[in-house]
Amino acid sequence: MFTSDLIEKLNQHSTPFYYYDLDLLERNLQTLQEASQAYGYKVHYALKANVDERILQRIREYGFGADCVSGNEVRKALEVGFPASDIVFAGVGKTDQEIQFAIRNNIHSLNCESLQELEVINALSQQMNRVAPVSLRLNPGLDARTHQYITTGLEGNKFGISQVELESILKNLHQFTHINIIGLHFHIGSQITDLEVFRELCQVVNAIQEKFAAYPLQLSHLNLGGGLGIDYYHPDENPIPDYHAFFQVFQESLKPLPQQTIHFELGRAVVAQCGALISRVTYVKRGLNTRFVILDAGMTELIRPALYHGYHKIQNLTSSEPSRVYDVVGPVCESADFFGKGVELPETRRGDLIAIRSVGAYGQVMASRYNLRDPARVIYSDQI
Ligand SMILES: *Cc1c(COP(=O)(O)O)cnc(C)c1O
Repeated sequence: MFTSDLIEKLNQHSTPFYYYDLDLLERNLQTLQEASQAYGYKVHYALKANVDERILQRIREYGFGADCVSGNEVRKALEVGFPASDIVFAGVGKTDQEIQFAIRNNIHSLNCESLQELEVINALSQQMNRVAPVSLRLNPGLDARTHQYITTGLEGNKFGISQVELESILKNLHQFTHINIIGLHFHIGSQITDLEVFRELCQVVNAIQEKFAAYPLQLSHLNLGGGLGIDYYHPDENPIPDYHAFFQVFQESLKPLPQQTIHFELGRAVVAQCGALISRVTYVKRGLNTRFVILDAGMTELIRPALYHGYHKIQNLTSSEPSRVYDVVGPVCESADFFGKGVELPETRRGDLIAIRSVGAYGQVMASRYNLRDPARVIYSDQI
């Protein structure tokens, strides 16, 4: 990713900033478009991974739909030009205003996560004299075998409709006069690299579909969510996920009904590798058994290491001396403010330029102003 020409240009900018490689994004989108079309699958981009305006534009231009988890994300998707009919809206805590906004704008589906939410959607859509399109987000009770903070499909997670509530929904279907249940939705977690997990998901979905066959519902959509992981360890060797291998699991193991379209919601896989956080070394200092590299970027720009021990490859772009081991940390007043511990880097000095890789997803969107830090800035590959 970093040619000496690019490094020289990056070095002229004040740090820290997010650098987005729009060419890599484009190659990713092409690959995803070809793969999804080959399997006849519909892909929604999960906005929460990155809502940068130019990135959203590119994704929309490729004809993908949008997956939103807040009313503001639905609004953003509409503003950027995603067709309402390609927008889905999940989330365990949709407010009345968010639900009304979604119904008013005719989005494709509200992905409902509880019995009570279903009752509220029904009541609101009745008041609006409408019939709201709803998919049931079911909790499949499945272990995604990823970090505990990013599993969402286990019984103990807050996400999705539980087995207990599903029973009472199915018993009381006649109550929901202003809802059209159009599909089933699942999303079991994020950064899933073991594709067998998705095969298990298919098996659970197949069993649930058999159960649903007894009820008078026209389920025309199956939404299998997102969660496809990326290679944080080898961003240059594996810049684009193996979408074919991913879709193939579903083609082999999912048994959709003849009328059903298959939807996915990918976030991380699409945008993670196109971003790098570029930062400068403010100080190097020695501890008892450690050498600290202190950067001008911190957890305020990238919280993944602090929040879920997320690994990011760290590179010194301006030194090629023999390597040493460092703890790479930020300036924020929190011990969790680190990017990597025991990191091998070429001998590092004040002023060196550092790249933290694979930060295009769940990076800039989670930035904060804690310690009254300046907002994270962005530089695009075609503007440098
Ligand atoms: C976060 C989320 C996604 C995207 O997850 P990735 O791991 O980024 O692919 C998809 N669907 C829902 C409902 C989500 O909450």
